[in-house]
Amino acid sequence: MYYWHKETYQSLRQDGARLAHAIVLQAPEGTGVFEFSLSWAQALLCESLAADGEACGTCSACNWFVSGNHPDFRLVQPDSHIKEAESAEDGPPLTAREKEKKSDQIRIDQIRELQSFLNVGTHRAGRRVVVVHPCDAMNTATQNALLKNLEEPAAGTVFLLATSRAHRLLPTVRSRCQTVSLPPPQPGESLRWLQEQSVEYPEALLAMAGGAPLLAASLADRAAFLHQLADQLASPRMDALAVAAMCQKSTPVEVVTALYRWCYDLLSCNLTGEVRYHTVMVPKVQALAEKCSPRLVAGYLRRLASERGLAEHPLNPRLFMEDLLFGYVAMIEGKPANAGNGLS
Ligand SMILES: [Zn+2]
Repeated sequence: MYYWHKETYQSLRQDGARLAHAIVLQAPEGTGVFEFSLSWAQALLCESLAADGEACGTCSACNWFVSGNHPDFRLVQPDSHIKEAESAEDGPPLTAREKEKKSDQIRIDQIRELQSFLNVGTHRAGRRVVVVHPCDAMNTATQNALLKNLEEPAAGTVFLLATSRAHRLLPTVRSRCQTVSLPPPQPGESLRWLQEQSVEYPEALLAMAGGAPLLAASLADRAAFLHQLADQLASPRMDALAVAAMCQKSTPVEVVTALYRWCYDLLSCNLTGEVRYHTVMVPKVQALAEKCSPRLVAGYLRRLASERGLAEHPLNPRLFMEDLLFGYVAMIEGKPANAGNGLS
């Protein structure tokens, strides 16, 4: 369990019997809400808890849990998440394009399949745990299917619904659950953790990840690309098509996020002199920020925010990125942000 979650975990343990049978666990993205839900699930099933109340890691229940075979545990997650985990063990990593084909939504039959699990008796200590992550990746019908399980809880069953976007849950689902907010780590804690993972340039990555340590660690692989992209964005004479070609192995979500952070820094630098994400290239941010109209940058940021959802499933990823990058060039040249080709 991450050290920034330990205090919350201890207070949850003290609440013990007063805890609801369904709990929404929410935390800022990239700070480990999923890992917390798994640690808690393992502790709920552990048959020989350690002195600090965490799972012992050595009993048979823990061994089954870690190997993914505990009979009283179910993890419900989108196919895209499952494939990622499997490919890490079984073969070469999937390309961005292959990943896009997998659904990032939890399917309704995944929730319906829980029914048989919930209806048979438990195999071990009488407890049963279901982790749903990210629980916001369910459409209305799927959430309603889950609701049925939450309304008639089988004895000893605990649902842990992990998310960074609890607002996407239906009010009816939220009202059946207790909500627990996990605190984000302190900057010192995040830095210490990244150093323990032997991540290079931890300060710069942490700044780029908005202070979220797990996100920073995942950016480590992508750091070279993101730095190259920021370098291109910093150029007052950027070639949108060349940059779109450079982004071909990336996902539209990654590019939209990178553009958003870059433009956020441009606006912030322009208005307050502060740079939040690109702390290793402040002079370049300042130079471009001086040339840009804050009104146009703000307009472009609004466009990025509204296209963030579209970026998950663009009809044509290449065209989508080209359109965004043409919009970016128009913005730095002082034209309105929606002067692209009108696709947005
Ligand atoms: Zn154990």
